[in-house]
Amino acid sequence: MNIVLMGPPGAGKGTQAEVMARKLFVPHISTGDIFRANIKAGTELGQLANQYISKGDLVPDEVTMGMIKDRLAEEDCANGFILDGLPRTIVQADALAAVLEEQGKKLDKVVNIDVPIEKLIERLSGRRVCRNCSQTYHLQNNPPTEAGRCDECGGELYQRADDSEETIKNRLDVYLAQSSPLIEYYEAKGLLLSIDGDQSINNVLADVGRGLGQNW
Ligand code: ADP
Ligand code: AMP
Repeated sequence: MNIVLMGPPGAGKGTQAEVMARKLFVPHISTGDIFRANIKAGTELGQLANQYISKGDLVPDEVTMGMIKDRLAEEDCANGFILDGLPRTIVQADALAAVLEEQGKKLDKVVNIDVPIEKLIERLSGRRVCRNCSQTYHLQNNPPTEAGRCDECGGELYQRADDSEETIKNRLDVYLAQSSPLIEYYEAKGLLLSIDGDQSINNVLADVGRGLGQNW
């Protein structure tokens, strides 16, 4: 199944995608994770992307699309993928359709996780991420068993630099201006599955499963 996961920053895309990927036996492809891995490794792409990410702006479309085109061509995507964090603009959505067509693929569903904007600040400022495996936690909503340590791999948890209050505000503005029009775009294509993301992690997962016709 070829799935795009959409929603504002902090909606729970990464949290849901991790579990969905395991259940559907497809890779979870997070553009944010790929950029952060490049920043950590000090690659040219990482240095370029960091200029935008650190301010909460979008990395330019052509840079992002070049990166994702290569990733989707990898063998592990042959039986499907969960794309988390892309598209974020209409230009990217059109470019994604062209990339998929070239590869003889198409999207099956676009899952939009809907959470009221005012709840997102609390979700983003309490988020902690594993430095080693990128597993995501929340200080109150989804804490690790041992404070500061990842349950999955024992790695150190850190706060993303762009989860500071000032950058969060810009990211939400960018979402509203540039990404939210994608909801109508995919609705018009008959691909949209809207999910109420303002409920527990398990209930969101159950709704996604039902919407995708899965028995989980
Ligand atoms: P996104 O990938 O959409 O930016 P994340 O999956 O990283 O969002 O989730 C943002 C934060 O909110 C994380 O700290 C996560 O643990 C927490 N979170 C995710 N889903 C829920 C939920 N349904 N209820 C409460 N907190 C959640
Ligand atoms: P995320 O991990 O999805 O919250 O993304 C973190 C940051 O990476 C975003 O704020 C953007 O700066 C950048 N980014 C991720 N995906 C994209 C994309 N599809 N287009 C442009 N920038 C992106």
